[in-house]
Amino acid sequence: MSKVTELYGSMVFNEHTMQERLPSATYKQLMRTIKGGEPLDIDVANVVAHAMKEWAIEKGATHFTHWFQPLTGITSEKHDSFIDPTPDGRAIMTFSGKELIQGEPDASSFPSGGLRATFEARGYTAWDPTSYAFIKDEVLCIPTAFCSYTGEALDKKTPLLRSMKAIECQAKRVLELFGDTAERVTTTLGAEQEYFLISEKDYEKRLDLMLTGRTLFGYSPCKGQELEEHYFGAIRPTVNEFMKELDDELWALGVSARTKHNEVAPAQHELAPIFAETNRGIDENLLTMEKMKLLASHYGLVCLQHEKPFEFINGSGKHNNWSVSADGRNLFDPGENPMENLRFLVFLTCVIEAVDEYQELLRMSTASAGNDHRLGANEAPPAIVSMFLGDELGAIVEALVDEHDYASAERVAMDLGVDVLPNFIKDNTDRNRTSPFAFTGNKFEFRMPGSAQNLSDVNMVLNTAMAKSLKGFADAMEGKTGDDFEAAAIDYIKRTLRDHERIIFNGDGYSHEWEEEAARRGLANHRTTAEALPCYVDPKSIALFAEFGVLSEGEVRSRYEVKLEKYNKIMNIECRVMKRLVRRDYLPAINRYAAKLANGIAAIRGVLPDGDTSFMEDKLRRLVAGAAEINRQLEKLNELHHASREVPDQQERANMNAHEIVPVMDALREAVDAMEIIVEREAWPVPTYNEILFYA
Ligand code: ADP
Ligand code: MG
Repeated sequence: MSKVTELYGSMVFNEHTMQERLPSATYKQLMRTIKGGEPLDIDVANVVAHAMKEWAIEKGATHFTHWFQPLTGITSEKHDSFIDPTPDGRAIMTFSGKELIQGEPDASSFPSGGLRATFEARGYTAWDPTSYAFIKDEVLCIPTAFCSYTGEALDKKTPLLRSMKAIECQAKRVLELFGDTAERVTTTLGAEQEYFLISEKDYEKRLDLMLTGRTLFGYSPCKGQELEEHYFGAIRPTVNEFMKELDDELWALGVSARTKHNEVAPAQHELAPIFAETNRGIDENLLTMEKMKLLASHYGLVCLQHEKPFEFINGSGKHNNWSVSADGRNLFDPGENPMENLRFLVFLTCVIEAVDEYQELLRMSTASAGNDHRLGANEAPPAIVSMFLGDELGAIVEALVDEHDYASAERVAMDLGVDVLPNFIKDNTDRNRTSPFAFTGNKFEFRMPGSAQNLSDVNMVLNTAMAKSLKGFADAMEGKTGDDFEAAAIDYIKRTLRDHERIIFNGDGYSHEWEEEAARRGLANHRTTAEALPCYVDPKSIALFAEFGVLSEGEVRSRYEVKLEKYNKIMNIECRVMKRLVRRDYLPAINRYAAKLANGIAAIRGVLPDGDTSFMEDKLRRLVAGAAEINRQLEKLNELHHASREVPDQQERANMNAHEIVPVMDALREAVDAMEIIVEREAWPVPTYNEILFYA
């Protein structure tokens, strides 16, 4: 066995380890829980807990934790040791089934959007046996869901799991119509993670980066990404060392980190894993993000995961590659025979319907203060959701809508009802990078999500919307078989595509014309988080989540509140940091430099009364005018900032942040940046983009 194969998954209590470590009856029982969703009884849990503990201790673990994803999106853990003191003064290591299944973190400080009064703050965590337990830094981590005692979900994972159940249930109904009795249908996720690596030394000098994750000031660097030399370029040695250690650590955790490369922007990189079932895929992504941050420090680097750390430079996204699979068969593979083709077309139609019907919810699921800087900024898809199908598949859909024969690129006319789809699947070279939701061969790639995001919300929306369209189809086809079913299915496909074809757009998603065209088509365009969030609490959304038992109305409302509050809190912090930096760093530096220049001019005049100092005076004038402008914008921001904090309604406050405060923040930044390029280098208080982005 090679080193890598030995390392891979060595820190994960995966199926292989379970089979090795558990008595076969327990293993079988546990598999019925994992694969079939059967409840787990306490006797089985006790045996599993014991085996898990023995395994973990052998691997050097001393503590265990219930690892969960509160509504902040970041993972949480509280460590308990296995140690149990004995009456004779020694200690034994214990871990019971009850401790495995359920925990009670005193988690009263996590946001709950009003779902949980502080006096009854105790939520509980419950083991999610479908996500593997793993050991991280000598702690056995047990992936769990986090709920209140009244059963409301207080985390991101629970609704995701519910949405996976919903889509499974509806997809099975559809598959049954095709005579396919799949045992298990799951969704899959491949999350491509983009990030920046910069030097710790620069980072420590930038309070804005340290407190907000992004630079609130900074003139564009002399060189950006125009030479396109960074993309897929040779990886610098320190970064390479970092990536190697990252791979090793992730492989040990069973995270299948596969592709790593430099991204478009200087100092930007990407890591793509091999896809996994969605809940596991999200666990893996969160572990990846955590490890990236931690390991960067071993190399004097800092990993930035903000969506837009640097203005004028591409931001970071997290492409959400999504598919549905039945017993391991990808349902977005068009297949080889007419029936498989028809099934493919049904699933495709349902995605098109789901994305069009719930475009606003999808947009909402990617909304955050950070991502507002990215969407629509000519580097990322616009805030308008649309779908790209590619030439071949696009032509097939068009033919279905217009009821004309389909002529493929090779000009083979075919009857869509009975014939085989052409081999367009093999040709996915023509990928439209500007599309927010693209069919890429045998999966869909949703490109709106930002790099800092937990992808649970995105997949929860996608799965639930898809469950709804699948249900529509299954309901309409109930009782139909044979030719009858085929004819009805084709008719259904044609009708549904006709109703939703407006969501398909194959052109340039970055162009201004598309914005106009999208408006004509009636597609939503929510540019900011403040505009994107309200649709969460629309009656239509509430009804959708209730219909499939994914979120109750109370849960929806609480999540909306938490998102709003988070947005407003971030805006508040950014305002404070901006004001502080301007008052304490930028203005004093500009003033000091202006005074130095003024003294210099006076001194020169003393020696050379007729020397030409006009260019110095010009510069002095610009500095003084610049400082005055900075001061004006600062006062404006100050006033608005104070006023915003008096607005009790969070949505109104968000509107004010997005529409009144952001423009002033931009103006203040511009005024400071204009000074950065005329103040002498030594006098500037922070490292500039040139220094931060281009390091050795
Ligand atoms: P890109 O051109 O966008 O960089 P890649 O092919 O490098 O695309 O990465 C695509 C991602 O999609 C990978 O993480 C891969 O594992 C994932 N992926 C591939 N097939 C599926 C699938 N069936 N379901 C979900 N994700 C998938
Ligand atoms: Mg991609």
